[in-house]
Amino acid sequence: MAEKVDVVVIGAGAIGCSIAYYLAKEGIKVALLERESFGSGSTAHATGFISLLGTEFTPGPSFQFGLDSYHAFPKLVEELESATGMDLLYQRRPSLRLALEESEEKLIKEMMVWQQEHVAMHWITAAEVHELEPRLTPSLIGAVYEDESAQLDSYRLNLALGAAAEKLGTQTINRKVTGLISEGNRITGVHTDGEDVLCDTVVVSAGLWSPEFQKDLNFPIPVGALKGERVLLKYAGDPLQVLISSPKRGHMISRLDGFLSVGSTGGRDYDQDQLYQGEDMDRVTTETARLEIMQRAIDVFPDLENAELVEQLAGSRPLSPDRVPIIGPVPGKEGVVLATGHTTKGIHLAPATAQVVTEYIQGGCKQVPSSIDLFLPARFADLTNADFQSAGLEVDE
Ligand SMILES: Cc1cc2nc3c(=O)[nH]c(=O)nc-3n(C[C@H](O)[C@H](O)[C@H](O)COP(=O)(O)OP(=O)(O)OC[C@H]3O[C@@H](n4cnc5c(N)ncnc54)[C@H](O)[C@@H]3O)c2cc1C
Repeated sequence: MAEKVDVVVIGAGAIGCSIAYYLAKEGIKVALLERESFGSGSTAHATGFISLLGTEFTPGPSFQFGLDSYHAFPKLVEELESATGMDLLYQRRPSLRLALEESEEKLIKEMMVWQQEHVAMHWITAAEVHELEPRLTPSLIGAVYEDESAQLDSYRLNLALGAAAEKLGTQTINRKVTGLISEGNRITGVHTDGEDVLCDTVVVSAGLWSPEFQKDLNFPIPVGALKGERVLLKYAGDPLQVLISSPKRGHMISRLDGFLSVGSTGGRDYDQDQLYQGEDMDRVTTETARLEIMQRAIDVFPDLENAELVEQLAGSRPLSPDRVPIIGPVPGKEGVVLATGHTTKGIHLAPATAQVVTEYIQGGCKQVPSSIDLFLPARFADLTNADFQSAGLEVDE
């Protein structure tokens, strides 16, 4: 039997590693259990776009959570880079969300009505877009220009969080958690494919594999898989100075390592047949996705016809039925917290998630922070059949 720890965190993705790091900073003794390796789940596939503009945030606490997390990044990145010596390829840049069709213009302008109250942004005409970036397609209607957006390398973030947590005393154990140990209604540790690990609190942050623990908890953890593919291109021209996205054509971002990230498939404008609805990660890249991503990219930035494909990535996102993360205690159980189902926003929301989970655990798991009322697992108490198909078609990218 391993030594008892304060907290067991299941899963070393962006969510699990940030929780381990935030807990360790408070002097809490953590065991981080991972069945494969750091970043082997969804996190390594993510673009690392930290943007407030999509449809994933709704007015009120949802947007506030996104904003708080966005604001946490500069300090977090500085801390991690100084603790680990790694470069997270973090860039703070304005972004342009482009409308190429009237439906996109309508969607963007409707959202601006309430988003403008929280973040500086304004609508610019096609001519103004071309002043900023003349290489974009002439057939643009316009764009929203927004100042608060960023991007980093999500895999490097994952590794740096894990390494920094270890430096602060977190013990990484490369084992699969095979079940939760209970005493009455209290979870007291985990079984693994090796020794058991005992603890005061278990955090389930196993991404799209989190449903494996619903039986032990006798409570639904509805997380499905939503496949996404993207590509990295080598483009000889100057890098884009703004982070670009559009509701129907995804993102286009010049990364700090010189590659251009373009994608991603999955969600609102992607062929329903391609929407992966399995229980596991789909890492298979497809020609259909590559052709579609390239066509969409060339529609926005015609000179990409001359770009060279460097890498194609495929992975799945941990999709929740309402596309909103699942964070907080499980009704009727003690000693367990869920932090999963972050869908398309798990990188962006990692710091804010870690902050609230740490606050809750530090307070003896007595008071749930009001900022996560919207995310509580209790909303799924009566769920029998989650509709992942509809949920998947609603996400932005
Ligand atoms: C193509 C694509 C683009 C994306 N772009 C963005 C983006 O730009 N911005 C953004 O914010 N998000 C983006 N996302 C979403 C983001 O990747 C996810 O929301 C996020 O990575 C989820 O992190 P996680 O830690 O919950 O899950 P994961 O990264 O999947 O980590 C879960 C970990 O748990 C481990 N695990 C599972 N079961 C067990 C077990 N029984 N025992 C021990 N370990 C276990 C797994 O091995 C894995 O390492 C994108 C996703 C994709 C696929």
